[in-house]
Amino acid sequence: MTDFTVFQREISRLLPHIKFYFNEPMAKHTSFRIGGAVEVMAMPENADQLADILKVSKLLDTKPAILGAGTNVLAPDEGMKGLVVCLKDALDAISQVDETHIRVSAGVSMTKAAVFAANLGLSGLEFAHGIPGSVGGGVYMNAGAYGGEIKDVCVSVDVMTFDGVLHTYTSEEMGFSYRHSRLEDEPGIVVSAVFSLTEKPSEEIRAYMQELAAKRKASQPLDKPSAGSAFKRPVGGYAAALIDGAGLKGYQVGGAAISEKHAGFAVNLGGATAEDVKNLLAQVSDIVFERSGIRLEPEVRIW
Ligand SMILES: Cc1cc2nc3c(=O)[nH]c(=O)nc-3n(C[C@H](O)[C@H](O)[C@H](O)COP(=O)(O)OP(=O)(O)OC[C@H]3O[C@@H](n4cnc5c(N)ncnc54)[C@H](O)[C@@H]3O)c2cc1C
Repeated sequence: MTDFTVFQREISRLLPHIKFYFNEPMAKHTSFRIGGAVEVMAMPENADQLADILKVSKLLDTKPAILGAGTNVLAPDEGMKGLVVCLKDALDAISQVDETHIRVSAGVSMTKAAVFAANLGLSGLEFAHGIPGSVGGGVYMNAGAYGGEIKDVCVSVDVMTFDGVLHTYTSEEMGFSYRHSRLEDEPGIVVSAVFSLTEKPSEEIRAYMQELAAKRKASQPLDKPSAGSAFKRPVGGYAAALIDGAGLKGYQVGGAAISEKHAGFAVNLGGATAEDVKNLLAQVSDIVFERSGIRLEPEVRIW
């Protein structure tokens, strides 16, 4: 018989209507395919369930970690105590609000949101097609690509506090800047976002999305587990160019390496640990700093 921890027993007793996953490997939920088991994982089906989970977590003195699609997270090898709330595929509603606005729940993938908009003949989310994260994760860190970012199209965001209270923030109140929003300084959970788009023929939108997909395929190591760009764009340069310039393509620590195809990506060659990735990022940052005087900071969120 399995021995449950006190936390596992209590949370399932207090929330019998919610399905929990015990000792769930984080490696199954992160695009790096790295990370030990979390004590409890929850995938709420709607905002009410999310609020229930948050209230009970508070009662049990636990602050949950929030996971979207896990495409920008490096989870610890030793696993995690407590609760991870995974919103990917959980909060999954998407709807048209009026002619030019759509509302998208946090768990919807950025690609699905872009395709939904394209099918309605609404332009503005093309950049998000191909970013493998969820809308919640994208809003949290103002994801962007090919000249577009969430900030350009987002008009408002419904955010739940860790007390289970909902607030609506305007785009200005979200404090978006390069790969940043207010939620990094003032914790809260994206429940849904409203995007303002412009009318355009669907075929034109799709053609542009296909062009961007081809660019990604040609330049990025999409066949290997990664978390996308390993470093933020530094002031005064591009991370990939600085890393390439330092001769670090293929540079390897354990099972983690700088991609041969795109120097901005750290990839898992198979069996990489979180320690390997952290050491790789630290060593690459040091070597680039010695050579250029520019300090690279990780873009991937290290848990
Ligand atoms: C192959 C590849 C290509 C990529 N290309 C790009 C790119 O072009 N542009 C780009 O910007 N990124 C890119 N990324 C990185 C990643 O997809 C984005 O950062 C994405 O926005 C992360 O979303 P996620 O749902 O996976 O977030 P996660 O990785 O699950 O989480 C990232 C952070 O967001 C927080 N978070 C997640 N959901 C919520 C929520 N609902 N409320 C509050 N906080 C939340 C988490 O706590 C965590 O701190 C790429 C990644 C890969 C693997």
